[in-house]
Amino acid sequence: LPDTDDARLMSGTLLARHTLAQSGRRAARFRQRSGRPPCLSVVLIGNDPASVTYVRMKRARCQDAGITSLVVELDATTTTGEATKAVRSLSEDGEVDGILVQHPLPAHIDERAVFEAIAPDKDIDGVTAHSFGAMAIGVPGFLPCTPAGIIRLLDEYAVDPTGRHAVVLGRSPILGKPMGMLLLARNATVTYCHSYTGDLPALVGLADILVAAVGKPGFVRGEWLKPGSVVIDAGYNEDNLGDVVFDEAVRVASLITPIPGGVGPMTIAILIEQTVMAAELAFDRGS
Ligand code: NAP
Repeated sequence: LPDTDDARLMSGTLLARHTLAQSGRRAARFRQRSGRPPCLSVVLIGNDPASVTYVRMKRARCQDAGITSLVVELDATTTTGEATKAVRSLSEDGEVDGILVQHPLPAHIDERAVFEAIAPDKDIDGVTAHSFGAMAIGVPGFLPCTPAGIIRLLDEYAVDPTGRHAVVLGRSPILGKPMGMLLLARNATVTYCHSYTGDLPALVGLADILVAAVGKPGFVRGEWLKPGSVVIDAGYNEDNLGDVVFDEAVRVASLITPIPGGVGPMTIAILIEQTVMAAELAFDRGS
């Protein structure tokens, strides 16, 4: 158990449970109105063990919330053309509300081309250029689930980014880059760090809010952190290890996300919420 002066834990498990329950109630209302539950289609290409596990977890949460989940499994040898065609047919299917293409895709597939085959109004994972643009400009659209889940966690724990220095480690299109933009939209001063950044520990030491999304276990050391900072560990590596050395960071930070039970559950909760939202919006449009 943490010492009394250790950081408070930001429980993604609890907030996700609450968020999922709300989505479940909305899904039930949608079913009453439309005659069918919301439907999420998950495209899984190949059999990467981590991806198979993530897909299983997403299906379980769909079931909890009363959402139909339809997994389209494609062989690891699937070509970009075949994968794109499969996604396009889901985009045109009136019974499918949301489409998630589980990534990473096998290396020979052009991931961007497959993502762009997702109709913007079904892009509940926020991976298309359309969704990214909407997010960057700040107009309505589906958000990338992990950064959106992190903003929810900050809100839940009353962390207002306004005027704070936020440092984001990582700049991937689905995590680091949109994370910085969402923090910027909340009036933080944002610094991005990546593999070319010099003196990364010094920059981390300036962070009031740190988001680690690097994918390297134990990369961030406790001694780098600014005392009292808020530490969000989005890294998810083998053996339930984050990108931050938790045992060190918990002694320096004021708030910190645990692993498991921090960012991960929020990602899925936002995915489910945005699926319900996609279903409602499509129904209201009459499409
Ligand atoms: P990614 O596409 O591999 O991006 C990693 C980023 O880290 C890149 O921007 C890279 O910089 C940067 N980086 C790598 N080595 C670095 C170094 N030594 N110093 C500074 N920056 C470095 O990964 P991702 O998809 O964003 O995922 C990142 C982590 O989050 C992974 O552990 C993943 O499993 C986890 N994740 C968790 C969830 C969740 O729900 N909890 C969801 C998605 C991802 P360059 O751009 O210069 O290469």
